Amino acid sequence: MHERVSVVIVGAGPAGIAAGMFLKRAGVEPLLLDEREPGGLLREANLVENYPGFPGGVSGKELASLMVHQMEKLGVRLEKRSVTKISSKDRSFVIETETDTYESDAVIIATGTAPKKAEIEGAGELEGRRLFYGLSSIGTDDVRGKRVLVLGGGDAAFDYAINMSARGNSVAIVSRSTASCLPLLLERAKAGGIEVSEGYVSERMTESTNGVRVECARGDEKKVFETDIVVVAHGREPRIDLLPSELKERIDDSGERPPMTGVQGLFVAGDVVRGIHRQAAIAAGDGVHAAMLVEQLLKRRGGVVS
Ligand SMILES: Cc1cc2nc3c(=O)[nH]c(=O)nc-3n(C[C@H](O)[C@H](O)[C@H](O)COP(=O)(O)OP(=O)(O)OC[C@H]3O[C@@H](n4cnc5c(N)ncnc54)[C@H](O)[C@@H]3O)c2cc1C
Repeated sequence: MHERVSVVIVGAGPAGIAAGMFLKRAGVEPLLLDEREPGGLLREANLVENYPGFPGGVSGKELASLMVHQMEKLGVRLEKRSVTKISSKDRSFVIETETDTYESDAVIIATGTAPKKAEIEGAGELEGRRLFYGLSSIGTDDVRGKRVLVLGGGDAAFDYAINMSARGNSVAIVSRSTASCLPLLLERAKAGGIEVSEGYVSERMTESTNGVRVECARGDEKKVFETDIVVVAHGREPRIDLLPSELKERIDDSGERPPMTGVQGLFVAGDVVRGIHRQAAIAAGDGVHAAMLVEQLLKRRGGVVS
């Protein structure tokens, strides 16, 4: 199927959802595409305490569901599609998915980030069975009473660890350097009985009869963890694989210059361009900013659908 629309938004996390809602209310009919359940990475957050409007904090899953509900109430069109390629043609964009092709006047890239892979011997063979990047693919509700080893020292690693510990698992964290998470997360982890090992590099993983053996080292000092599940949180990188190199080059992911790309009609929003400043409120703000620029562009071209 080939369809002409005014705006395609790729990614239905906080950035894409906020952009979609703004455009819909501005009289533009955006098409939001996401390969997964809408809500984005936020669904993985255990407890969000810094998103305005929730004095008692809110789980990432609930906040994401509220955003999706609000978007649905406004009637934003969402299709489950994986975007494989975006290219520019004259003053339009061609957005290819596995099944359909769309053509639009503007595109907002709100694809977020992908986890960086663990460069640890043996990690590749365990991926998807014993080793996971984040919690979304684990089925956390079924994992209880297990040994969980989290590799990483940032906010996400500690958030995952606290989440898994609260579900009755026995959790340890190994961080390559000093933990870089918020001090309050470190305190909560320690208070919750999570073993935190800082400055240890994970060198090798092997499957054993009763789980995974992870060998770590801090200089000459060795430490071995026997665990059921390994969760890796070694940072994330922008998801811009769907863009051709000439468009990719226009994206500055340093967090300094979103949402403009220098290509008319092509905008970026949220984690995909925010470098280390990855936050739901920033993503939502970026989404609105990009949407406002799209609305202005369509008005200039006389193309706002009302
Ligand atoms: C453990 C954890 C805890 C966190 N805690 C907090 C917190 O307390 N406070 C806070 O503000 N933020 C927190 N965050 C960060 C927050 O989740 C992100 O900043 C936010 O989700 C970014 O929104 P986004 O829309 O830019 O990207 P994402 O939420 O990553 O959404 C991107 C969407 O794009 C889709 N997509 C990507 N590529 C394609 C493609 N080719 N085709 C179709 N769809 C595609 C993905 O499926 C995804 O749904 C946390 C994150 C993690 C991992």
